[in-house]
Amino acid sequence: MAGETAKLNAFPIFLRVEGRRVVVVGSGGEALAKARLIAQSNAELLVVAEEPETALADWTAANGVNLVRAAYQADFLKGAALVFAASGDREKDAQVVNDARALAIPANAVDRPELCDFFMPALVNRAPVAVAVGTEGAGPVLAQMIRARIDRMLSPSLGQLAILAASYRELVERRVAKGIARRRFWKSFFTGSPARAVEAGDAIEATRAAERLLHRQGAEPGHVALIGAGPGAEDLLTLRAQRLLMEADVIVHDALVPEAVIAMGRRDALRIAAGKRKGCHSKTQKEINELLVVLAREGKRVVRLKSGDPLVFGRAGEEMAALRDAGISYELVPGVTAAFAAAADFELPLTLRGVASSLVFTTGHDLKGEALPDWTKLAIGGATVAVYMGRSTAAEVAGLLQEAGLSPDTAVAVVENASLASRRLFHGTLSDLPALGERTDLSGPVLTIIGDAVAGANLQRSEPLAAYRENGAHAPAREE
Ligand code: SAH
Repeated sequence: MAGETAKLNAFPIFLRVEGRRVVVVGSGGEALAKARLIAQSNAELLVVAEEPETALADWTAANGVNLVRAAYQADFLKGAALVFAASGDREKDAQVVNDARALAIPANAVDRPELCDFFMPALVNRAPVAVAVGTEGAGPVLAQMIRARIDRMLSPSLGQLAILAASYRELVERRVAKGIARRRFWKSFFTGSPARAVEAGDAIEATRAAERLLHRQGAEPGHVALIGAGPGAEDLLTLRAQRLLMEADVIVHDALVPEAVIAMGRRDALRIAAGKRKGCHSKTQKEINELLVVLAREGKRVVRLKSGDPLVFGRAGEEMAALRDAGISYELVPGVTAAFAAAADFELPLTLRGVASSLVFTTGHDLKGEALPDWTKLAIGGATVAVYMGRSTAAEVAGLLQEAGLSPDTAVAVVENASLASRRLFHGTLSDLPALGERTDLSGPVLTIIGDAVAGANLQRSEPLAAYRENGAHAPAREE
């Protein structure tokens, strides 16, 4: 590829329209679309429509926009900053454009690039911050796609943060030395504690955070985000998780978190695998807690990535306690938990009117006690039971439920690698469930769903759970 960039025929600028008139000429949907866009600014909008369609008339009335119901005349354009010709008729649009040019006003004709003095960008609006995407009229769909991607990357509260920043500008210029220190200050401001407080909707804390930052000359203490990475498919990550990942200095992740999600981090971010999977060397929970504290004390922005949701069998409680004890700020970002992904793969309603009105998340582990665990009673009462880490204990779980009185014919769905292309679906009954523990052909994480609601699942793509017969001796695979 040659390094040279092609030259633009239309140069992007931000035009001051506050309090100035912008005229839209047209009666239909195109006029409404343009009027809506302009209404995102403080321009004084005037719509000229001989016979306005209802939607246009209603919108102007509801938004206090000036609507002139009259035949178009060039006089309406006088004094305008911009003019839009949106009549839907080429002749009429050309007339409006010519009249505007005669008055030295730049004009735009909807869907007629050859008549346009300027193009309307696709707009990401976080006023006062704006991102305008233009293709010189070549690809409105492309512009919209790019717009949507940028929109996802930017926090919804970015505008408020920019307003707060503006109010600190002078002070920062006086108090923080130009150059590295000032750059560091603003970087911390826009990604650190002031940004987090604005995002949380806490204006008072945001001001306090900005003051603290000024006092520390931009040196920001570390912060840990405990983030749910979802069940495996990278596009089941939340937008917030993705944004924080892109800002992180360090990513500490579990083994089940897919590579594609970790790869969303900055290229120069440090990545630390915290384990813990099938006999591989892994850190103890205590070591992980300490690691998070040490990294945050170094001033790092740490993302602690856990599979699914961090608060469901994720040991986030222990990590939060360690961070609290160390006085380190942290936040939580929920994720799609494995049970939800497994249910979606099976098209399985977890609650079903008249059949199942509660949902139990349990684990096949911790079943050592003598008494039947509480959740077995809930299962008898019609709850749907989602079992995490339940492969090697499948027989015990099946036994407990039957002992509690659940019918051996109760439906069971099992999903390996939920949400991933490599997923496998199995169906059967409670009496088949022990077969799960005997299978040695499953190497991915497995989630089991038990209950009458499972009967509502789509069994077309699933295999019978009990059909598998293995030859020879085996040991059930270990799970985390
Ligand atoms: N916090 C995670 C659960 C961690 S415990 C969550 O909210 O999903 C690990 C267990 O989660 C695995 O043993 C398995 O039972 C389940 N699991 C995680 N990802 C899974 C997937 N893609 N498919 C099926 N089960 C999964």
